[in-house]
Amino acid sequence: MWCPFCHTVEETAIHILGDDCRFARTIWGLIAGWTGNQLFHPSSWADTSSIRLWWADRIASTKPLGKLPAKAFASVFLLTLWEMCKERNRRVFQHKLNPPAAVLALIKEEATLWKRAGARIGELTSGADDVP
Ligand SMILES: [Zn+2]
Repeated sequence: MWCPFCHTVEETAIHILGDDCRFARTIWGLIAGWTGNQLFHPSSWADTSSIRLWWADRIASTKPLGKLPAKAFASVFLLTLWEMCKERNRRVFQHKLNPPAAVLALIKEEATLWKRAGARIGELTSGADDVP
């Protein structure tokens, strides 16, 4: 099955969630802009060959920031992956398509809910158009 985002290569987990897919790169770039942190931008990522290695690299990159900021980063990484998976499934199973800006809006909405549930993401997502 082709990637439901870019339709240029075979779909793999690391392609659709990492930095290889143009759509995924755009989403991560939007997340970097929203949070004001380049650790979310694919240009700061080392090449990875699997989701497990990609995740290990993301977690390792936030460890020097301290425990609580690292948890906030992990929450935003997981939230973004979750919403990208939902967008993938929306395209595959419902034949509906959200552009990157709409996916970012969904991520922000979900972030509000996650914050209410106790996720420590407020310090990464403050601002008028962000999580209250
Ligand atoms: Zn793709």
